[in-house]
Amino acid sequence: MRSVYLTEPRKLEIRQEETPVPRDHELLVKIAYCGICTLEQRLYDGERKIYYPIIPGHEASGTVVAVGSEVMTSVKVGDHVVLDLVNRCHSCPACLSGNSNLCENRFKKGQRVLGAFSEYMVVKPEQVQVIPDELPLDQAAFAEPLSCCIRSLRKAKAGLGDTVLVSGAGTMGLLHVKAALAMGVRVIVTDIAKSRLDDALAMGADFALDASDSQVFVDTLRSLTHGRGVDSCIITTPSVCAVETAAKVLAPGGTLNIYTSYGDKPVLPIDMNTIHRNEFVITGSEGRSEYDFNTSVRALANGKVVVDDLISRIYPLDQAAQAVEAALSGKTYRVLLKMEE
Ligand SMILES: [Zn+2]
Ligand SMILES: [Zn+2]
Repeated sequence: MRSVYLTEPRKLEIRQEETPVPRDHELLVKIAYCGICTLEQRLYDGERKIYYPIIPGHEASGTVVAVGSEVMTSVKVGDHVVLDLVNRCHSCPACLSGNSNLCENRFKKGQRVLGAFSEYMVVKPEQVQVIPDELPLDQAAFAEPLSCCIRSLRKAKAGLGDTVLVSGAGTMGLLHVKAALAMGVRVIVTDIAKSRLDDALAMGADFALDASDSQVFVDTLRSLTHGRGVDSCIITTPSVCAVETAAKVLAPGGTLNIYTSYGDKPVLPIDMNTIHRNEFVITGSEGRSEYDFNTSVRALANGKVVVDDLISRIYPLDQAAQAVEAALSGKTYRVLLKMEE
């Protein structure tokens, strides 16, 4: 089988290896598609490092081709599946309280991290969820990013009747828009790129506002919410201004969710008295629990969230470098790798 290895920043190598054989309690999955997430982009450009050489990739779909004799679940050869590749120990306080996204052992040394830029992958039964054959495998590769948005909306306590501001209309911002709409939320999205705002409206956002002039933006948003402000705001862009502006349009008691990660460690640009007087709730959202992942899989399987318009390009595995460059270009939404020739 062929796998794509990142051996140092900006250096991808395609290696031919033996296809692994699953042990009794494992499965072998033939990978169909894998999305190129922000994490893979940061690993590629060297902004983040896990270990070298590493096979990147964590947004994967595929087909089960072998099932170990001691696998307890009902998954069988031929099933279409999506992979949940985070490591969860199932026994630490975070895992036991339903927050396995924060598993304290998830980065423990010696474990494989990522690994789906490959034609085959051995996984544990709890790392696969079966999807219906009708769900195209390229769209199924969004199960992981969508699950992160679902967690984020849960952390923001967004629900039917609420108005939510999604700050940033990149792939993750627009996936938030889609998930929020499916939950009955009124969605206002903001960005500084007109084409992305147009795309947000085409995808069903209730309002798409240009954030270039922050005063105009704040005034417009206040009038859209009868002066009250939004129930919650989700930050999907690493611009610090976005948080500053969000604090000005958050309704009393509102929740501000820092969804994005940052390359550095910026300080919250909100004065503490404003937080105190308005009872603002400030949270972050990191990854997804298995509960969020399962919700995502069901929403995609039921057609309640449709993501075909977020697939910008699909590259074959041997063009992985071009694919990552395209993802980094800023001109695309999700770029996928297709493993099969
Ligand atoms: Zn991802
Ligand atoms: Zn754990």
